Amino acid sequence: MEKGNLSITSENMLPIIKKWLYSDSDIFIRELVSNACDAISKFKKLVQMGEATAAEDEKYRVDVTVDKDASTITVSDNGIGMTADEIKEYITNIAFSGASDFVEKYKDKMGEANDIIGHFGLGFYSAFMVADKVQIDSLSCKEGAKAARWICDGGVEYEIGDESDRTSRGTTITLYIGEDGKAFLDGWKLREALVKYCYFMPTEIYFTDLVQERKDAEEAKKHTEEHPDEAVEPEEEQPVNDTRPLWLKKPSECTDEEYKKFYHTVFTDFNDPLFWIHLNMDYPFRLKGILYFPKLKHDLEAIEGQVKLYNNQVFIADNLKEVIPEFLLLLKGTIDCPDLPLNVSRSFLQNDGYVTKISNYIIKKVADKLNSLFKKNRKEYEGFWDDINQFIKYGCLREKEFYDKVKDSLLYKTTEGEYVTLSEYIDKNKEKCDNKIFYVSDVNQQAQYIKLFKDNGMEAVELTTRLDVPFISYIEAYGGAGVTFARIDSAADMLKKKDADSLSEGETKELSELFKDSLGKEIKLKAEPLMAEDVSAVIELSEQSRRMQEMSAMYGMDAKAFPSDESLVLNTDNNVVKLLLKLKADESKKDETKLICQQVYDLANMSNKTLSAEEMTAFIGRSNKILEMLAEK
Ligand code: ADP
Ligand code: MG
Repeated sequence: MEKGNLSITSENMLPIIKKWLYSDSDIFIRELVSNACDAISKFKKLVQMGEATAAEDEKYRVDVTVDKDASTITVSDNGIGMTADEIKEYITNIAFSGASDFVEKYKDKMGEANDIIGHFGLGFYSAFMVADKVQIDSLSCKEGAKAARWICDGGVEYEIGDESDRTSRGTTITLYIGEDGKAFLDGWKLREALVKYCYFMPTEIYFTDLVQERKDAEEAKKHTEEHPDEAVEPEEEQPVNDTRPLWLKKPSECTDEEYKKFYHTVFTDFNDPLFWIHLNMDYPFRLKGILYFPKLKHDLEAIEGQVKLYNNQVFIADNLKEVIPEFLLLLKGTIDCPDLPLNVSRSFLQNDGYVTKISNYIIKKVADKLNSLFKKNRKEYEGFWDDINQFIKYGCLREKEFYDKVKDSLLYKTTEGEYVTLSEYIDKNKEKCDNKIFYVSDVNQQAQYIKLFKDNGMEAVELTTRLDVPFISYIEAYGGAGVTFARIDSAADMLKKKDADSLSEGETKELSELFKDSLGKEIKLKAEPLMAEDVSAVIELSEQSRRMQEMSAMYGMDAKAFPSDESLVLNTDNNVVKLLLKLKADESKKDETKLICQQVYDLANMSNKTLSAEEMTAFIGRSNKILEMLAEK
């Protein structure tokens, strides 16, 4: 065998590659298998161009084999192959990309040369992340070519010669696995890496675990010995990959069933997705993919999206924030972008204008889809709203551009169970709601107010999640002049009965005194005829001061810095309140009057917030006392 030196300038090159180029060592499988697929597509191109001949029934395949007993992993293909000179040229000149050489040579004849995966020219060396020694056996497709063998143990020296035992066209890479790669000698672990990176590669890939195979053969032999008349059908071998992922098909040729099936297999989610977007772009850059809106009823935190990024069917990474706008990572999908460099450093991606274009394109497509659903299938879209609203709101908050595109398709669920846009709500409730958008932040807690609203022919919208808090401020800022939100407990005067008399100022003052004495504290009190006769009182909280309070709580500030601006609104149309007005003059009923005041106050409070432990204890004690009085009567 002849000896030579790798033409690299620094002896430290390999350790550097080993350490820094790839963060995950399982990537070696991606690099070697993608090289094998490349070699096959190169050969196919040569055949197409009449520069090589293939058998009529040629079956192109890549074989990945692991042998734990021998500590080897091999990747074998029946592609273009390499002569000894080519190995020297393509493999040993690390900085020199063989792919670009090939493309250069054939670019006039090939047309679209770009679908050859290699871009970087260092992929092969990732083998040294797991192997102590790497061997190449190759037989070039060139006529009269001799098989060649190359061996390198990770230093700067290699051996090359023609002692190879490869007898058919193609290349076998044998990895003699070292300490760092031991884990991959387990069949399931290697298969997992194969599935992760190579699941959509364009040539059929077959996986064999030799240790397992020997075990199976032994068992089969034993079985036949024990049951000699049972015929054993050999299992048909199955490739690990899907060579024609659905995103490559024309959207017009894909059926709903295909989209769903693809979703189920790729994301192992047995629920159907709500809907999907098939991305299919050729110019000014190439991008194909499918984004799914999964069904989700959870809170945003529980949403686990997954967007897999591919480069020419080779998996690059999940949820790459630098390429895919963060809010879209809540979706599930696959995106294939052949123009992205395979071995990308993230800081490079962040600064790449091309990446911004991709990201904008995807945002636009998602917005288009939502808008078209809204316009063309409003009912269906409404049906999705509970599932998708958090995603959309999060998107708006994260990307103003997205908000600008979808703002007219944002819906609000009303307390009547309808879905309306902001302008529809305003149009419908303008007069009654004084141009405000009333909202409910907790449907159960605020049930009394909702009832009052309903009795009054008004409706509020449900904005009940944590995300709705910043969303409300966002819409107030960008949603147009005069758009203001007010929580349903902030405007009791809206619930006043029309043309009914209010109490005189003197009477109100008297009531204030009475409550102050009974509760032992100063409170703001209003007395108004409200719509619902069976409600004795409600708490009214000023929207502004409540928000200030919430904000200070969020930032861990002293709650006392912003005292709440709270009023007790007594319903003068309610019988209890009417009786109270009579009782207050009666000195002999002093105790009863006090109890009633306290109870009315608690009832109003209860329908506004959760009582504290102390308040609750007092309320229950008092309620029992009232029952006792009732029973004794
Ligand atoms: P890249 O794939 O980006 O060119 P690699 O380091 O992965 O860089 O591979 C270097 C070159 O070695 C390839 O371009 C190709 O010419 C050659 N090569 C690698 N593996 C094979 C193979 N299985 N069959 C034929 N040629 C190969
Ligand atoms: Mg490569």
